[in-house]
Amino acid sequence: MCGIVAVIGSREAAPLLLEGLRQLEYRGYDSAGIATVNAEQQLSCLRAEGKLANLTARYEAQGAQGQCGIGHTRWATHGKPEERNAHPHLDGPRQVAVVQNGIIENYRTLREELQASGVEFRSDTDTEVIPHLLSAELARLQQAGHQPSGQLLLQAVQAILPRLHGAYAVAVVWSQLPGALVVARKAAPLLIGLGEGEFLCASDTPALAGFTRTILPMEDGEVALLTPLGIELYDEAGSRVQRTPTLLSGTDHVADKRSFRHFMLKEIHEQPETAALWVARHLPESGGRLALPLDEQVFEGVERIQILACGTSRHAAMVGAYLLEQMAGIPASVFYASEFRYAPPPLAPNTLTIGVTQSGETADTLAALAMEQERRLQAADPAYAPRLLGITNRPESSLGRLVDQILDIGAGIEVGVAATKTFLGQLLAFYALAIAFAERRQGAPGVLKADQREALIAGLRQLPDQLRELVDDHDGRCEALAHL
Ligand code: GLU
Repeated sequence: MCGIVAVIGSREAAPLLLEGLRQLEYRGYDSAGIATVNAEQQLSCLRAEGKLANLTARYEAQGAQGQCGIGHTRWATHGKPEERNAHPHLDGPRQVAVVQNGIIENYRTLREELQASGVEFRSDTDTEVIPHLLSAELARLQQAGHQPSGQLLLQAVQAILPRLHGAYAVAVVWSQLPGALVVARKAAPLLIGLGEGEFLCASDTPALAGFTRTILPMEDGEVALLTPLGIELYDEAGSRVQRTPTLLSGTDHVADKRSFRHFMLKEIHEQPETAALWVARHLPESGGRLALPLDEQVFEGVERIQILACGTSRHAAMVGAYLLEQMAGIPASVFYASEFRYAPPPLAPNTLTIGVTQSGETADTLAALAMEQERRLQAADPAYAPRLLGITNRPESSLGRLVDQILDIGAGIEVGVAATKTFLGQLLAFYALAIAFAERRQGAPGVLKADQREALIAGLRQLPDQLRELVDDHDGRCEALAHL
């Protein structure tokens, strides 16, 4: 899943879109594009294969006017990474432009149906069905006497969304409407940014952080109409939703290499900071309990713990289960979230379920947590009631909205695909949890004794300095080992 940016306001949209896309480059992509609509109702669409620099060069040569626009970096799933498959995709008359992150699973059926009605496709993507469906819906509404308006575009998007199966986020502009754009999400992230005199939308916070820190994360199934005057948010059933925006927390939301050769090296060097932040946030100065931002109910009466995760987070979870069992004496099991969804274990009482995902957007982990919550609610027995805790680096993510208790690892944005500082942050979150459980279970079998706990905390306090010594590696030992 790649990047979406959209903007509407009083400034020219194209440079803002290009800047937003630049902030999403770290996610990887094979092509990019933008579409803008100007006050004369002209839609400009520019796309280019390869690096964003190719798209920027095209913009500098051809321009794309208008204060309303959408942009995309694509990671091809359907159709080769070529310019004709790059987003935005347009309808036949080139009036509707759409960008999409994700996959439209039933696109083949929709494509055949549209082709049978005479629509000609210009790309091999799953996405192109959307502008054609919208075009037909807008034509139908206009024939019924409706004038172009933000509400009309919203209505058209709401009408076609139930036809799209899959996990996706979309942004739409329409040439007849220079003052509005519509965005929607289903099981793919999308956040609205409230700037000064402009409104933005993006699939990830770095694209917004340069413009505003006031964000409104969209919930699953929601659709929003953005105009220069404000935003209107609607739930899946079409009812208007009012929600207070949140402020992006202080952690670094901008992907910046600083002076390092590449992001992964920078992130390896940030590990001592991740550990130092953890020590400062959680470790008691002397004697007291660990400071954790969790409700006491998370701990009360817990008899077992199940941890749901995928990939690297699952590896952290395996260490976590070991720590919880060995230090706090609580039976703990780890499940692949993708398998848990299809073969959950029998329900056990008084169970804490922990979901671990760096981005807070791992679809399988979110789906497994939602399923666990649902089946525990169905059980309608207080002993089986859902208790969900999330461990993430992105508390503003979908995970943050799904579970009511969050442990934020606070490692700052991680660009490298191989996890470094976030893996460390996840391990430390588990150390904190295991110690916190041990503190509440003093004297029970298999639980750390007070002196063992003190010794462990004293050891963990050394961690930032020890890590610093390791990564600074003044005599090049790490590099020499890497070449062996
Ligand atoms: N499935 C879409 C495509 O192949 C979108 C991929 C993406 O999320 O970048 O064009």
